[in-house]
Amino acid sequence: MSSSDISPQNSAPAIHAKQLCRHYRMGETLIRAVDGVTLKVKTGEFVALLGSSGSGKSSVLNLIAGLDRPTSGSVIVQEHDLAQLSREELARYRLRTVGMVFQSFNLIASMTLAENVELPMRFAEVERRKRDSLAREALARVGLQARMNHRPSELSGGEQQRAALARALINRPQLLLADEPTGNLDSHTGTEIMNMVREFNQQLGMTVIMVTHERALAERYAQRLIFLADGKLVGDESNALGIANTMASDAAANGERL
Ligand code: ADP
Ligand code: MG
Repeated sequence: MSSSDISPQNSAPAIHAKQLCRHYRMGETLIRAVDGVTLKVKTGEFVALLGSSGSGKSSVLNLIAGLDRPTSGSVIVQEHDLAQLSREELARYRLRTVGMVFQSFNLIASMTLAENVELPMRFAEVERRKRDSLAREALARVGLQARMNHRPSELSGGEQQRAALARALINRPQLLLADEPTGNLDSHTGTEIMNMVREFNQQLGMTVIMVTHERALAERYAQRLIFLADGKLVGDESNALGIANTMASDAAANGERL
């Protein structure tokens, strides 16, 4: 494992955003999408990032994902400042350490599910046979093994998001970043997706940061709620209901195993 990998044994916070700012200039106006956010997330935590539309949630998530660079401030991931990484190290971080899912699934329409899911491994230069078996395994994990040769347009929204979760999982990232993952789904299907996200958090030990504007959803699943307004952090609280639900689902899973 290279020094730029996140190690779950490491006790440093998984993520430390320090005085993060992301400003956009639109002609004469300056939009302070992210305006001085400082935040620590521990390894294995399940955090919801809440706020109304335009409050800066996606901007914060994209900075943590290394998809965008801050105007000022820094993102430290297990003691590595993303701004200090070389292009190759940053690409490796995005490919190996981070898994991402989006509201609109972002699957490639011309590819089958298996091809979509194995794409990150192709970039990571994993050999073909290994890719095939890992893609199959990941699709089985989300209950889509029978659909592996289908294209996204042949699937329901919930199935597409399950495939996107399988793709996010494929390189075994330590960090799952989800931007409104249930935003395009009905509540039943949304619950199914959220249960999978919780399973990844509990069983695979992934640190989860989920952006949502649905407070009730965040309260059911997340262990901690962080609130943004106008690009600023305006609340950060432990969430007793989410913690209790996580413990109950854990006990149920352990019971099943006995
Ligand atoms: P949220 O995800 O909470 O809805 P965003 O992070 O997408 O909020 O956006 C925060 C603010 O930044 C909004 O006012 C939005 O219009 C603005 N913004 C986001 N991306 C850009 C961009 N690429 N160019 C200009 N303004 C942007
Ligand atoms: Mg958004």
